[in-house]
Amino acid sequence: MAGINEVLTEQDNIELFVNYMDTKRRSDTEYFRLLKKLYFQKYQLFKFDLIISSDDHALDFLLKYRDELFPDTPVVFSGLNDYYPGRLNSQNNFTGIYESYDVLGTLELMRSLHPQTEKIWAITDNTRSGNIFKSLIEDAEKSFSANVQIEYLHDLPELELVKKLETLPENSLVLWAIYLRMHSGTTLSSKESVRLVSNHSRFPTYCIWDVVGQGVVGGKITSPNFQGEMAAKIGLQIINGKAIEQIAVKGSPLVNIFDYRVLQKFEISMEKIPENSIVLNRPESLYEKYKRYFVLYGLFTLLLLLTIFFLVAVIFLKRKNAEFEGKAMHDPLTGLYNRYYLDEVVCQKFSESVRHQSALSLMLLDIDHFKKVNDTYGHLTGDVVLKQVAQLLSKNSRSEDIVTRIGGEEFVIILDHCDLNKACEKAEQLRKDVETLKPANIDTTISIGVSQLKPLGETLNQLLARADKAVYQAKKSGRNRICAA
Ligand code: GH3
Ligand code: MG
Ligand code: MG
Repeated sequence: MAGINEVLTEQDNIELFVNYMDTKRRSDTEYFRLLKKLYFQKYQLFKFDLIISSDDHALDFLLKYRDELFPDTPVVFSGLNDYYPGRLNSQNNFTGIYESYDVLGTLELMRSLHPQTEKIWAITDNTRSGNIFKSLIEDAEKSFSANVQIEYLHDLPELELVKKLETLPENSLVLWAIYLRMHSGTTLSSKESVRLVSNHSRFPTYCIWDVVGQGVVGGKITSPNFQGEMAAKIGLQIINGKAIEQIAVKGSPLVNIFDYRVLQKFEISMEKIPENSIVLNRPESLYEKYKRYFVLYGLFTLLLLLTIFFLVAVIFLKRKNAEFEGKAMHDPLTGLYNRYYLDEVVCQKFSESVRHQSALSLMLLDIDHFKKVNDTYGHLTGDVVLKQVAQLLSKNSRSEDIVTRIGGEEFVIILDHCDLNKACEKAEQLRKDVETLKPANIDTTISIGVSQLKPLGETLNQLLARADKAVYQAKKSGRNRICAA
């Protein structure tokens, strides 16, 4: 029913009528006749599109009464233990699936998991299914290992069965085939029956149809749930217009199914069970249990890692950029800013000065007879002189002044908020400082040209040209002096 419901509840245009025939309790001719009468009363005004039957008795009933009760209604049967080609009596409009069994497969499975086994105790009842299973086991026994003996506990009264199970010899296994109707006529549910057997036997119990999960270790079986699903799917095909003659009767697939809890109880290692087995009641691993959180956490971590990676890359690139920019803006010999930097910043300084009407001056400083220094003491000493003069200029300027080396032995200082007079004073002080410096023990002097930015503004080149003229004047009038322009 679970399998059938699973498929059919998805179809909202299908109304399902369910009748439980209860044939595990009664299945005789008179009972069938009464059922037929009941169904006639209930459904004489109905026309069904499809009948799905489950179990042998239900099919037997339909083979006998379908034409009277539900003429022309197609039947899809399932859960059939006993199928052979003549079973349908050439009746039309019947198809379905029968339960395939692999008794030999289950016996082999039992032996492979318990190689010491000497006896397998097969439990069957005296129902139609019970007798079918018994003969299936007898058939399988013919092809099974001669070292393992199969003993039949067929149609035993409950007490006798319990007694037998409690006194089983060493190296035994139990095969629960079917034991639902007891000798007394009372019935057990499969769960009650399996529990009865597994509670009284100290040896593992296996099965040949699906009672895994009720106390048996497992078996090579077909799943009734899957049969229900298959039957419903076939039914849907028929409702949707597929000709029933085109749908052949087929067996249900088989699979090894185990119960994890019973495997543990009998200390049967998971490594021993065949590949692709289905294991029920397996405890979820931490991962399976919290899979959603693992995925979320994984994604979150990945996002964090990507963010970290991105930020590291940004920092790295920024540093590299700053390094390049720093290199591009500085003079490598003296460490002062260079002409490029001057060009970059001066524009803003000039426009601020014009807008706020604050004075801005420029000094152009040129070392006197520097060529001679190189010629006399060598280029390296010349470099030392340049560096020491640069250091002095830098040290003796305000932090907001921009001190640059714009050429060989020429420096420019931009003085914010400083008019020509103050700039000349400052220049004079620097001139004196250089004069007393004696870099590399060499008498060194500088000539300085000073110019002030015009109130309406001018370009750096214009301001520089005026300072240059002033330097020229200073040189001309004897060097080691300052001139303003
Ligand atoms: P003046 O007083 O007229 O300015 O004479 P000067 O010799 O200082 O001027 P000139 O322009 O004739 O010579 C400048 C010298 O500076 C020429 C050049 O070799 C030297 N020079 C330029 N750059 C460097 C440098 O990086 N290191 C060294 N050691 N010398 C340099
Ligand atoms: Mg020069
Ligand atoms: Mg010079």
